Amino acid sequence: MAEVAVIGGGPAGLAAAQALAQAGHAVDLFDAMPSVGRKFLLAGKGGLNLTHSEPFDSFVQRYGERAGLLKPWLQRLGADQLRDWAASLGVQTFVGSSGRVFPQDLKAAPLLRAWLHGLREQGVRFHMRHHWLGWAEDSALRFETPHGPMLQRPAATVLALGGASWARLGSDGAWWPWLQARGVPLAPLRPSNCGFDVGWSAHFRERQAGQPLKSVVISLPGGWRQAGEFVVTAGGVEGSLIYAASARLRDALEREGHASFELDLLPARSLEWVAAELAHPRGPRSLSTHLKTRLGLAGVKAALLWELVPKEAQADPTRFAALIKALPIRVSAPRPIDEAISSAGGVRFEGLDDRLMLKAMPGVFCAGEMLDWEAPTGGYLLTACFSTGQAAGQGAAAWLAETA
Ligand SMILES: Cc1cc2nc3c(=O)[nH]c(=O)nc-3n(C[C@H](O)[C@H](O)[C@H](O)COP(=O)(O)OP(=O)(O)OC[C@H]3O[C@@H](n4cnc5c(N)ncnc54)[C@H](O)[C@@H]3O)c2cc1C
Repeated sequence: MAEVAVIGGGPAGLAAAQALAQAGHAVDLFDAMPSVGRKFLLAGKGGLNLTHSEPFDSFVQRYGERAGLLKPWLQRLGADQLRDWAASLGVQTFVGSSGRVFPQDLKAAPLLRAWLHGLREQGVRFHMRHHWLGWAEDSALRFETPHGPMLQRPAATVLALGGASWARLGSDGAWWPWLQARGVPLAPLRPSNCGFDVGWSAHFRERQAGQPLKSVVISLPGGWRQAGEFVVTAGGVEGSLIYAASARLRDALEREGHASFELDLLPARSLEWVAAELAHPRGPRSLSTHLKTRLGLAGVKAALLWELVPKEAQADPTRFAALIKALPIRVSAPRPIDEAISSAGGVRFEGLDDRLMLKAMPGVFCAGEMLDWEAPTGGYLLTACFSTGQAAGQGAAAWLAETA
């Protein structure tokens, strides 16, 4: 029988297991999948963005309304500590041009391998293909295992079950109704860092899906503005700049039923310059050639203008210039949560004490993406998962010491 059960072997669960093992506890870690850290490994495919190097005060602000709540845990395990920890496992990190922090080889696998090796040496026991199914009536943990159903009655439990994106990697959000039934306050799970549907014409979709829009700026009502790039998809838009705007767009859709952003296709040029170039006599040349030669607008950028700018506006240099600098793009819905990089919502902080123990279930702690916070990409997601994982593990160890 487990003394302490950690359920979920993503970064949050592994960090909790580490903290508990360091405090001298026998830890049994259960995960539904055949191996742990699947989403962490996937994150490493495009270059593992472990954390971010910006100063702590701005770093914390990336967690928006939850900044104040997460701050104490991030102070204990933030960007610097995460880099030191990686180094202690033999993985050096570097700061990329955007301030993002990556392992030297960009990969997650060597880090995970070294981490798991260390955890096993500390006595953590791993139980794969152990699918947690909630609690039995007497509050025992119920598992489906390759050997049949199993019950566990540990002295403390850490839940680190992840959010609800990329369910095939293990985190499917199935825990939500089980916690709700136990009186835990929860926010609905919603896509975060996600793409959006726009509804392109068949002509545009067939020719432009997959094309990147580089060096553009997105603005949102209220003054939010960011430079970057994104990709046109068959049905809409996705990619890092869209992810950065995604929480605001999603919230506006929920609140008002519609949302749009303005796209500056030539952020390095002033409106006056664009208008003057457009007004330049073009003689027998087509408007398309004129756009290309005078403004450098071609490919997907030009295609977007043909798709969205009405003919009469194309004929009016002043109106056309204004649209090149601020092209409204209306989004109709976020892409499904399963496609998102992360999810928002989950266990509300008012249901947790300051060591991440559920007020409704003493002895049960929660950590990672299943908590009700969200952050943009840039290493902020993983950092908060490590940080709250450590906090829940340390919290469980302190609680066990008190109740022994
Ligand atoms: C494509 C992609 C790229 C990403 N890149 C980055 C990046 O570069 N930087 C960054 O900061 N973040 C990135 N993220 C986000 C980051 O990977 C997640 O936020 C992080 O993995 C969440 O950690 P977690 O431990 O809370 O949950 P998870 O990593 O999701 O782990 C949860 C674990 O719980 C297990 N589990 C769930 N339910 C049960 C159950 N009922 N019984 C037993 N086990 C269960 C799952 O099998 C899983 O192993 C990326 C995400 C995606 C999808």
